[in-house]
Amino acid sequence: MSIFSKHFPLGLGTSRFPILGPDDTEGIEQSIELVCKALDSGISYVDVGYNYSAGMAPFVLKEAFRQASRPFSVTAKVMHGQDRTADDARRRVELYLKTMGLEKAEYFTCWTIWNYGIFEDIMKKGGIYEGALQMKEEGLIDHICCSLHAVPEDILKIIESKAFEGITISYSILNAVNMRPVLDAAHANDIGVIVMNPLGGGVIAQNEDYFSFVCRDEEESTVHAALRFVKAHPAVDIVLGGVKSEEELKDSLSVFAKPDPELPKERLKRVMSSIAELKGFCTGCKYCEGCPEGIPTAAIMQARNALLFEPVAAYNRTEPEELLHHIQMFRPLLHDEGWIPETAENPCLQCGKCEKQCTQKLNIIDAVADTYRRAQQTYFTKQAHKERLRELLYEKGYTKVGLYPNGGFSNLIIRLYEEFFGEPEFEWLQFNSDPKMWGQMADERLVHSPEEIPQLKPDLVLICTYKYDQDILDSLRPYEEYGVKLEKLHRAEEMPWVF
Ligand code: SF4
Ligand code: SF4
Repeated sequence: MSIFSKHFPLGLGTSRFPILGPDDTEGIEQSIELVCKALDSGISYVDVGYNYSAGMAPFVLKEAFRQASRPFSVTAKVMHGQDRTADDARRRVELYLKTMGLEKAEYFTCWTIWNYGIFEDIMKKGGIYEGALQMKEEGLIDHICCSLHAVPEDILKIIESKAFEGITISYSILNAVNMRPVLDAAHANDIGVIVMNPLGGGVIAQNEDYFSFVCRDEEESTVHAALRFVKAHPAVDIVLGGVKSEEELKDSLSVFAKPDPELPKERLKRVMSSIAELKGFCTGCKYCEGCPEGIPTAAIMQARNALLFEPVAAYNRTEPEELLHHIQMFRPLLHDEGWIPETAENPCLQCGKCEKQCTQKLNIIDAVADTYRRAQQTYFTKQAHKERLRELLYEKGYTKVGLYPNGGFSNLIIRLYEEFFGEPEFEWLQFNSDPKMWGQMADERLVHSPEEIPQLKPDLVLICTYKYDQDILDSLRPYEEYGVKLEKLHRAEEMPWVF
C-alpha cells in the first residue's frame, strides 16, 4: 500500500488542455468541462504545474474544483532553481492554493529533480524540503513527494533516502529495462509511484506498428496495451494521461475502467522479453559501459532509439524531420544524463570494448561517430554555445543586456557567459510577460515588465526561450524604435539549450 493506492489508476494531466492563451475563453470553458467530466468519471488525482496549458491550467481547475461533487486530490509543485528556500516553497504553495481556490493540497511535489546534487540542495537546512516539513506539520499539505528526471542510479539513492512518500517518474516501453530497478525499489519501500510519459512522449502512439509486440492479441490497440504495460508493474499506482478532448478522455478511461484482460504479471514478463528481441533497439541494459574515453555509450545508444521511429512534433516545431529527431535524441542526453560534448571531435578509439559487450549486437562505434556528427550539425556542444555567446554578447560595447523571459534559459546564459568570459561589462536585466513575476526577485535579479523596456533602455534584448521564440520576437518588435536590438538565442537548426 502506498499514499496513492486509493486513487483511480488514471490520473489527470493538465498540460494539454485545448487553450491557446489567457483570452481563449472557449478553450477555457471546454477545459473546465473536461475536468468536470474526468472527476465525475472517478478520476481522483490531478497533476498541475503553474505554467501548464498556457499558464491557464490552475485557473481551469479552480472552476472545475468548485463544481466537483466527488473527492479529488491535487499536488502543489515547487521547482528547485525557481525556488530555493523554505520560505520560497511556502510562498509558491500558497500561491498555488490561492489560484486554485483551495485551503490545502494533499500532495506537495519537489518538481523535476534532475540529479542527486539537486536533491542534496533541496534537503539542505532552510531549503525546500524543510519548508515542506513545516507545511506538513501545519496541515497545509499531507504528503511530501517529488518528480524525478534523474538517471536510475540517482533515483535509487533518492528512494533509499526515504525522504519522499511518493514519486513521479517517466516510464514506458522505451525505458522499461532501465527503470525496472527503480520500480522494484519503490515497491519494496512502499513508495507510491505515478508514471508520466507512459507513451514515451508520443513516440509509441506515432509508431503503433513498431510497438505492436506490446499487444496481447490483434484486438488490442498498441496505445491501450502500452498503457496497460505501464500499469502492470505492481509499484505503479497512477498513470498520468494528459487529455485535450472528451474523446481522448473516454479512450483513456476505457483502458483503466476494467481489469487488464491479461494477467499483469504475464504482460510484464511477455513484453519485457519482446523488448530484448527488438532489432536495432537499445534496451538500456548498460553492459557496454566503461568506455576508456568516458563516452556514455549506453545513454547515447538509448537516446538514438528515437532515430528508429517517426519523429513527433516538439517545442512548437513540426518540421524539419531531422531537427525533430535531433530534439528527441539529444533531449534525454542533456536533460536526463547532463551530457553535452565539449567539442564535436569524436574521441572514440575504436577499441571495440563496448561492442563486444552489447547484448543487442549494435554497431556502437558507428553510432557514436554519427552522434558527434549530428552534435556538430545542431550546435550541440559546449564550444558551439561559447561561440554563440561570443557572437551575441562579448565585447559589443553593451551597457545593459535584457534576457527574455527569466527562468532556466536566462540562468544558463548568465552562468555560461561568466564561465566563458568572466564578469560582463554590461548589466543583466530580466523581463517576463507574466504580471505575477513583475517586481519579484528571481535568482537575485529583479524581473521587469516588457513595458519597462523604453525606460530601462537595454542595448539588446536576447530572446532565450525556444518554444515561442518567434512569437516573442514579433511581440517585441515595437521596441526596436527605441533603439533596442532584438536577437534570438537559438539558430534555426539548433535545439533548445535547456530541455
Ligand atoms: S570503441 Fe570507442 S566508444 Fe567503444 S569503448 Fe572503445 S573508445 Fe569507447
Ligand atoms: S549493451 Fe547494447 S543494448 Fe545494452 S545499453 Fe549498451 S548499446 Fe544498449
